[in-house]
Amino acid sequence: MAAIERIREFHDELTLWRRDLHAHPELGFEEERTSDLVAERLAGFDIEVHRGIGKTGVVGRLRLGNSPRAIGLRADMDCLPILEANTFAHRSRHPGKMHACGHDGHTTMLLGAARYLAETRNFDGTVHFIFQPAEEGIGGAAAMLKDGLFERFPCDAVFGMHNRPGLAVGKFQIRPGAMMAGGAYFDIAITGRGAHGARPEAGIDPVVVAAQITTAAQSIVARNVRPLDTAVLSITQIHGGDAYNVIPERAVLRGTARCFSQETMRLIETRLRSLAESIAAGFGATAALDFRAQFPPLVNDADETRFIAECAEEVVGAANVNRNCNVTMASEDFACMLEACPGAYIQIGNGDGDGACEVHNQGYDFNDEALPYGAALFVRLVEKRLARVGTD
Ligand SMILES: [Zn+2]
Ligand SMILES: [Zn+2]
Repeated sequence: MAAIERIREFHDELTLWRRDLHAHPELGFEEERTSDLVAERLAGFDIEVHRGIGKTGVVGRLRLGNSPRAIGLRADMDCLPILEANTFAHRSRHPGKMHACGHDGHTTMLLGAARYLAETRNFDGTVHFIFQPAEEGIGGAAAMLKDGLFERFPCDAVFGMHNRPGLAVGKFQIRPGAMMAGGAYFDIAITGRGAHGARPEAGIDPVVVAAQITTAAQSIVARNVRPLDTAVLSITQIHGGDAYNVIPERAVLRGTARCFSQETMRLIETRLRSLAESIAAGFGATAALDFRAQFPPLVNDADETRFIAECAEEVVGAANVNRNCNVTMASEDFACMLEACPGAYIQIGNGDGDGACEVHNQGYDFNDEALPYGAALFVRLVEKRLARVGTD
């Protein structure tokens, strides 16, 4: 029997698990109930459970045979600080918290794969089921890596999956190389000399400096970044001054940069620092840039992209797998794991048509119809990569 058919036999149960998680969302690093549930279920499948990796992170290890080969499968567990607008029975019980990104579905698909693999035991090697906390911008992947994720649970390759509204259920999409943008936040603190608003000659005006830097910064993407590289630099805040008749001492600029390579991110940082400092110096002021890379770009390994695409084709057929999807300017912290271990990240259809609500929206819900497809793809990765000699 194909894995997906066996998984469909417990689809109802998976749906209950998913809706239970949806009703009890927890924010990043607060996934106490969720990680308890995950640990309990893994233990129930006779899978070795390790907890406290990246605070609330959980890793399940299932080792069969003596092959040294090992694979990592990762799902995220956290919710978002959003007040849910849905009225169905499994809506959030926690006001202001909501599974609006479908991590309830990701966790359930990985649990479904764990159940199947523990039951059928049709592979030779080690599977690490990685349940990551705090994906939504607060560093859950980095926290797991800091706690020695890949030293304690070495993997030849690691794979992640995210639902994609607007893509039909039963379809997958991916691309080799950079697929999601890296992101950075920055502050530029400008210091001039305060003075009476009517006596500019007595001061150094940081507001004028801030305006010049804001304008000059627009030239970085237009004139320094290669036209074929995609990048965004947005100054989103300008703060300075409190009175009509006072030239303030200080002004602050803040913003964000997005791009698809570390090299471009370094270029943006270097150019922004140089412009800010030199423009300020030209006016007799000073400017200090604090540039903080939040996420690296998500870069899929070419070989592992081919491998997961092949596996997806074996589950849903070649016509339902797009191997060359568009890039997105959003970020994803699985990118940190892909920097530490080769692997790939694929998108799974959450449904298209009129009801296809975007993630991070108050009306979003993970589509339970997608559960068997995602679980079956995780299973296929394992059974193909860790195939028993003479089988498969
Ligand atoms: Zn999200
Ligand atoms: Zn997400």
